[in-house]
Amino acid sequence: VSVRERLSAPGPKFSVEFMPPRNDGEENVLWNAVRRLESLHPAFVSVTYGAGGSHRGRTIRVTERIATETTLLPVAHLTAVGHSVAELRQVIGSYAAVGVTNILALRGDPPGDDPTAEWVAHPEGLTYASELVRLTRSLGDFSVGVAAYPDTHPRSPDVDTDTRFLVDKVRAGADYAITQMLFSAADYTGLRDRMLAAGADVPVIPGIMPVTSYQRLMRIHELSGQSIPADLAEELYAVRDDPAAGRAIGMDHAIRMSADLLSEGAPCLHFYTFNRSKATIEVLTALGLTPALRR
Ligand code: FAD
Repeated sequence: VSVRERLSAPGPKFSVEFMPPRNDGEENVLWNAVRRLESLHPAFVSVTYGAGGSHRGRTIRVTERIATETTLLPVAHLTAVGHSVAELRQVIGSYAAVGVTNILALRGDPPGDDPTAEWVAHPEGLTYASELVRLTRSLGDFSVGVAAYPDTHPRSPDVDTDTRFLVDKVRAGADYAITQMLFSAADYTGLRDRMLAAGADVPVIPGIMPVTSYQRLMRIHELSGQSIPADLAEELYAVRDDPAAGRAIGMDHAIRMSADLLSEGAPCLHFYTFNRSKATIEVLTALGLTPALRR
């Protein structure tokens, strides 16, 4: 089954992103979330790939376990950074060997925490995600997704160039795109419409993460270079010393935005979960979707 097929099914849909656990404690937290969310039938669940290709074994193990021990459809993230083409082929082969045929093809960030660090390709590696899309498609019957940025990717010089590179990824064989976390339905429709106008007619899935404190909002801004909506920042700043009030504001914002996204025709809501299920289930419940999803 491919993500593309899942997206074409009728009715409300959601998906979630998990991170591979680093120890036994995190493993339990992850599997708790997996089991809780499984009962709501997400369209797919994606598993991130460690920065710089670190701990790739963990991504492979978790996606394999999801593929073999649950009813869920796993999507394995894969980044080009730090890998030769031979290594990338090997990782893609490892996914195929465990029945994982849905891959999110990414370039990855330079190692370290500095978002302005220079991106250096592996001497025998790839430079852009579009090349990884092509490589993956050439190796078998994979369904491949790519990343998209409502505010443009921080390294893109302008919106038109950013759009052109997104179109490249679709021409290379991407079936759908997932956006970086966004803060308004207008950011979503802006990105979707510019892709469509440029000829990239694939489903665009909005990425959602309830941001429940001023500190977290600022951290996202710092790490991703994304612009932050002033009204949300002000509301969260006003309650910066009151975690419960911050959470209520963040959840309310995520719920309203999710409703707007669905009415704008988003094919699926993709939740960044940090391996927890509570916030995602709360949003879906507030939207009245849980009975429909439970079937
Ligand atoms: P690309 O699409 O290759 O773009 C990178 C830059 O190159 C852009 O500035 C683009 O404009 C430019 N560019 C593209 N094509 C060309 C060209 N032909 N000529 C010149 N310039 C070009 N990172 C991880 O490490 N692990 C993960 O699991 C992970 N998951 C993610 C999931 C999602 C949904 C998103 C949105 C991001 C994720 N990332 C992850 C982060 C991602 O790896 C970084 O944002 C990275 O900087 C860009 O990756 P990309 O695939 O979008 O790159």
